[in-house]
Amino acid sequence: MPTALITGITGQDGAYLAKLLLAEGYTVVGLMRRSASSDVIGERLRWLGVLDHVQLVDGNLTDLSSLIRIVQEHRPDEVYNLAAQSFVAASWRQPLLTGTVTGLGAANMLEAVRIARPEARFYQASSSEMFGRIQAERQNEHTPFYPRSPYAVAKLYAHWMTVNHRESFGLHASSGILFNHESPLRGIEFVTRKVTDGVARIKLGLARELALGNLDAKRDWGHARDYVRAMWLMLRQDQPDDYVVATGRSVTIRDMVAIAFGCAGLDWREHVTTRQDLIRPAEVDVLLGDATKARERLGWEPSVTLEEMLAEMVEADLARHRARQRG
Ligand code: NDP
Ligand code: GDP
Repeated sequence: MPTALITGITGQDGAYLAKLLLAEGYTVVGLMRRSASSDVIGERLRWLGVLDHVQLVDGNLTDLSSLIRIVQEHRPDEVYNLAAQSFVAASWRQPLLTGTVTGLGAANMLEAVRIARPEARFYQASSSEMFGRIQAERQNEHTPFYPRSPYAVAKLYAHWMTVNHRESFGLHASSGILFNHESPLRGIEFVTRKVTDGVARIKLGLARELALGNLDAKRDWGHARDYVRAMWLMLRQDQPDDYVVATGRSVTIRDMVAIAFGCAGLDWREHVTTRQDLIRPAEVDVLLGDATKARERLGWEPSVTLEEMLAEMVEADLARHRARQRG
């Protein structure tokens, strides 16, 4: 049975990836940072019914010795580095922490693999945010990067460190440049989940309004369940490489909001306000991915539309709030 180590296993993608790898027959080891709230930290894994099937180990991406120890003990065949300070808006308020975890943390994980388990295959969670102020209408693996936030700058460092470890040391290290992907397990601060949670509150009479920032930005949104499959497929290839993963459809925040409110039979214009303090210091106006390479080489395709995904998220948030109301 192959063993996979997942950093960021308590996050959205970590949970979906753990579920996929368990179904594929892997032993799954997850790196979890110590927390005073460890009783609630496995919530996403519990929601997917896999909490009792993964082995959680104590470590931190900023602590190289903990990473080396874990790699030495568990001898993973595959390492998925998903851990990060992953919220763009927070990265202006905590730029150094973001650089330390999201940037240097990835270098720590690469070094742990190089030192303790160089034959392991490595996946780095890179981001379409690296394209930032876009240099081509549709972004693919050849599009130049132009990061627009401390988060994107940190991800770019991690991306190039991954490429560098591949070229310098021959590691089987791949970088997945994933466009936005969401699910009922998305963090509540990200716009899709903030909206579906807001829709559920308004529908159930728990709130009347939802305050948002820039409604004109466009994103290429897919479902996390589809996107973790792309990560796994990258490590199935004989040669490590970089891949863009996207749906190829870009929608404004405004239109996404309209679809989500529509899922509950609500008119968004009666409830959504905009607030200046939710506008970012610099914006990524448009993202639109070209995943031709992933389709041709990995046989990867998205299977869920934005409408289907938002309907699933609204349903899940309605169910959560109803359960809370029942006490
Ligand atoms: P989440 O924010 O849901 O999960 C982040 C994970 O990183 C959590 O498990 C968190 O642990 C962990 N983490 C944070 N800091 C540390 C640390 N110092 N040491 C160890 N673990 C830490 O992110 P997603 O699942 O949405 O995304 C997964 C990865 O993919 C991230 O790297 C993200 O930046 C990247 N990405 C995501 C995209 C998306 O649309 N979702 C798009 C492109 C890239 P804890 O639970 O304790 O907070
Ligand atoms: P990102 O693409 O990784 O930054 O993902 P987010 O979901 O955080 O943001 C996507 C887009 O939604 C960005 O262009 C934000 O400016 C925009 N947006 C508008 N209002 C909000 C809001 O209230 N919260 C968040 N998170 N984003 C918002």
